[in-house]
Amino acid sequence: MNASFSRFAKSKENVLKLLNYMNDGLMITNQAKEIIAVNPSFTKMTGYSFAEVEGKNPKFLQSGQTSRTTFEEMWMSIRESGTWTGEIINRRKDNSKFYCYITVTEIRQKEPEERYYIAIMRDITERKLNEEKMHQFAYYDTLTGLPNRNYFFQELKLEIAKAKEKEEILALLFFDLDRFKKVNDSYGHQAGDGLLSDMAERISEVIDGIGFVSRFGGDEFTVCLPNIKEKSMVKGIVEQIFKIFQAPFMIKGNSIFMTMSIGVSFFPDHGTDADTLLKNADSAMYRTKDEGRNHFRIYEMHMNDQTAEQLTLEGDYLLALQTGQFEVYYQIQIDVDGRTPFGMEALVRWNHPDKGILSPSIFIPIAEDTGTMAELDEWVLKRACHQTRRWQEEGLANLVISVNVSKSFFKQPDFIVRVETALTLSGLAPESLCLEVTENTAILQFEDVRNKLWKLKEKGMRISLDDFGTGYSSLSQLRYFPIDTLKIDQTFVRGSKVKENEAIVKLIIAMAESLNMNVICEGVETEEQLNLVKKEGCRQVQGFLFSLPLPTDKCGELLKKLTNSRNIV
Ligand code: C2E
Ligand code: MG
Ligand code: MG
Repeated sequence: MNASFSRFAKSKENVLKLLNYMNDGLMITNQAKEIIAVNPSFTKMTGYSFAEVEGKNPKFLQSGQTSRTTFEEMWMSIRESGTWTGEIINRRKDNSKFYCYITVTEIRQKEPEERYYIAIMRDITERKLNEEKMHQFAYYDTLTGLPNRNYFFQELKLEIAKAKEKEEILALLFFDLDRFKKVNDSYGHQAGDGLLSDMAERISEVIDGIGFVSRFGGDEFTVCLPNIKEKSMVKGIVEQIFKIFQAPFMIKGNSIFMTMSIGVSFFPDHGTDADTLLKNADSAMYRTKDEGRNHFRIYEMHMNDQTAEQLTLEGDYLLALQTGQFEVYYQIQIDVDGRTPFGMEALVRWNHPDKGILSPSIFIPIAEDTGTMAELDEWVLKRACHQTRRWQEEGLANLVISVNVSKSFFKQPDFIVRVETALTLSGLAPESLCLEVTENTAILQFEDVRNKLWKLKEKGMRISLDDFGTGYSSLSQLRYFPIDTLKIDQTFVRGSKVKENEAIVKLIIAMAESLNMNVICEGVETEEQLNLVKKEGCRQVQGFLFSLPLPTDKCGELLKKLTNSRNIV
């Protein structure tokens, strides 16, 4: 503190004057928890003047919507450490509720009766409401109001865990409407949407109380039936559904008969995790379609005839790791204002001797299954750091390389050391490395993730959250992570003609701004999409419009071309 300010601050009156200028609301109580001072921001936030609250216990602000445990935790923390920070829901004078981010500090004096409590409050209602909206977007299908795929997955996993514990049977039903495309083509999309809503209602009617339904996507629905006593019960339920579908649907004054194909898988016989159960119910559904539709089928082992091929590929993969058949491709990331490159994303490829270049979606599951994912990621990281340093030395000075980090790699106890080694070996500055983690990594063990991310951040590296919008992370949790960039998943960008996606992109950008995060839109393929995301405020993009993922030499050429053309302009 400088000397003249120190003199100024010595006067209590001057300090109180300063508090009047604070943007945050301030409330001071005495030992008896009676309010003895508030500042103008408090009045603005709550609607109460000092005269109205003087001498009152702050309890009158409570909305009744904050849990008792929150207040218990608050007082325990204040007793133990003298302070507490958290979120509570309060009520204004006009009875409206508001979310409040609050820090309460106990000021202890020599005499116990001379204690004061200072509460500093910030109104975070707008952000909270945005988060709620995001939750709605993230978990519910706007057309039918049913839970969406994300939500279904989450619930299914919980039900599987319960079934495991109680040794119960669970059934998974996968529905696909027959010839839905025809309805869309003949009567238009609006009619198709109406049909899907009616369909959702009819399925829900049968399933009500015995399981849960989701709109899984397009004309696909899924149903989870937990605690099945006898497998034959499912047959009865499916028959009820077929029966309810015998009544016609009305479309633009026409009655239309719709049928559907249903595939069924059972836990634990056909899989013990959500992905396998879904895959198998889906295979059974496809078999039904092959057999003439309007039918249902229970999964049988031979339905996955890809299994044999998968096994050969697994053998090839382990050999590929030893003989170095992997390559790193690079996709350039672009600053939309000047259309200049600011970095690249490293994307791994398998150069298979017979099958050619294979994409990660084919071999990443194998890498995970064989426990070699971390090894593969580390190899990509080293290669990418090395190559980026070389490009920098060739004059492309400010490039940042983004490298995907799988959950398996991130979980390694020596993860940080391995990342640092890659940097040291290549000579790349930490600021030139951005690690991409997905939302599913972010919701691993909260403390472990937070510690690791902060360590990387302290060492100068950047962090981005990949495929944002597809996972289960809650934004309120993300605030505690030092994330520099959100990468909006390409499904939102590519579907950005649809109003709902546009709204999500807009919302994510607004939220990111309020959290001081950068946004990259992935999957930009056309000028039209570029203009749309630009309009919503996105300044950085990645997508086929500017660059495919390219092998090293091709990427180097394109980087130079894009950078030089900018310099000439
Ligand atoms: P990602 O990290 O979200 O990478 C972006 C993916 O979107 C890449 O697919 C890229 O080729 C594709 N893409 C980019 N722009 C466009 C576009 O305009 N249109 C379309 N249709 N696609 C676009 P890719 O290379 O097949 O990688 C798929 C995923 O595999 C990656 O998604 C990432 O999650 C994972 N992956 C790739 N390389 C690695 C790696 O080295 N380690 C780990 N752990 N995962 C990796
Ligand atoms: Mg990525
Ligand atoms: Mg992505």
